Amino acid sequence: MSQQQDVKKDLCQQLMTLYEMRLRTFVKWPFSAPSRCTAERMARAGFYRIATPECPDAVRCFYCEKELDGWDVNDDPVGEMRRHAPHCRYQDLPKAYDDMSVEEVLSSEAERHIQALERSHAAWQARVDSASQELLREIDRQIERIQGK
Ligand SMILES: [Zn+2]
Repeated sequence: MSQQQDVKKDLCQQLMTLYEMRLRTFVKWPFSAPSRCTAERMARAGFYRIATPECPDAVRCFYCEKELDGWDVNDDPVGEMRRHAPHCRYQDLPKAYDDMSVEEVLSSEAERHIQALERSHAAWQARVDSASQELLREIDRQIERIQGK
């Protein structure tokens, strides 16, 4: 991703911390009351729409960046977030970003970035561990080959 794309994504992420901005992304959303996943409930749960022609109902959580699609009329946005992204702490915040002071938002954003770094580090560590194991197996295979087994 280019630096310009990074800046654009960061700016978009910052705007999506606001409920009204998230709600605006749900243009022609196929679910309305009495469905459990109306545009309002989706936006309140932290989602904004990232529709593509292949996935017209794709959404992303602004807080943990989890992407979900394939919504059903009975899906509960908060329940789906808890099921697919149990690490997401957005639902546990004492109040919505819109109702927080600047200090509270900054504190929450710091926490959110720390969690993202921890997830990224864990994924990187898993890749390093996997590559190390593969390397050890390859060394064993080469030793066996050299020893003529
Ligand atoms: Zn989330």
